[in-house]
Amino acid sequence: MSETGASAPTNVLIVGVGGQGVIMVSKVLARVLQIEGHQVKQSEVHGMAKRGGAVFSHIRYGPEVWSPTIPAGQADILVALEWSEGLRWLDYLRPDGGTFISDTRAIVPPFACRDRTPGASSAYRVTDVARVAELVPHAVALDASSLARSLGNERVANTILLGALAAVLDVPMETWRSVVAESVPPATVETNLEGLDAGRNWQPDDQPGAVTSPITTPPVEVTVELEINPAWCKSCDICVQFCPERCLTLDAERIVELTDPAACTGCRICEWLCPDFAINVHLSETAVTA
Ligand code: SF4
Ligand code: SF4
Repeated sequence: MSETGASAPTNVLIVGVGGQGVIMVSKVLARVLQIEGHQVKQSEVHGMAKRGGAVFSHIRYGPEVWSPTIPAGQADILVALEWSEGLRWLDYLRPDGGTFISDTRAIVPPFACRDRTPGASSAYRVTDVARVAELVPHAVALDASSLARSLGNERVANTILLGALAAVLDVPMETWRSVVAESVPPATVETNLEGLDAGRNWQPDDQPGAVTSPITTPPVEVTVELEINPAWCKSCDICVQFCPERCLTLDAERIVELTDPAACTGCRICEWLCPDFAINVHLSETAVTA
């Protein structure tokens, strides 16, 4: 029952926060590997009571896999959908040859923000990619969220990260493409496949400084738009009670509405906590010229 030597499984750890799609990414990877003939074992922690909590999934594959969990220090690849979660799990990465793939976007818990003004900086995390690149044998740190927005759908960030993963795994792109196409909503297949290719072909030079130096953030103005799907709102009142700015309420029909748009900071807590996915927060950034 040995898991060492040439037949040892390959270990991929996928981490992020609730609502990001860790489980979807994990399922796509597991399916791709199964199609390629590998034995695959998957374990996960999800279903957090509060969306926004830590979520992770272990994937182990190879000719024969016995255990579904990856011991610390033995992940061959760590894929982080959120920067700070990626840093938290670095100890799991194999020190002698592990690959770290991460979106440089950090999701800051609203309660960790002292200044919740749109675009305000936070001391919550340090996005020092150069420091991480020193610590791990192979680091791929890309601004997948911005890349996804440039493709017209910020939710494609996960597929971009899958593309970056495809660049380091020995699996034909056709397999990736077919599994992604069957795993995403039909209306988004084309954009997701674009995202897959964008991640697969991404080079550090595409985003100067992404791997070799710390990311600097130019001053930006952030515009917040709250998209509410009334048909999905089940009147649970969670978002109203947890909105830090008190700018939501339930209307006469007991459907959530934004009553004070100017107060909304775009913190996303309503989006993360809504159990019915009835709220989407859209942030758009405009560079501020001096
Ligand atoms: S409405 Fe949502 S995004 Fe806006 S401040 Fe309240 S919780 Fe945050
Ligand atoms: S959390 Fe979601 S379902 Fe509950 S009131 Fe808010 S929008 Fe409606």
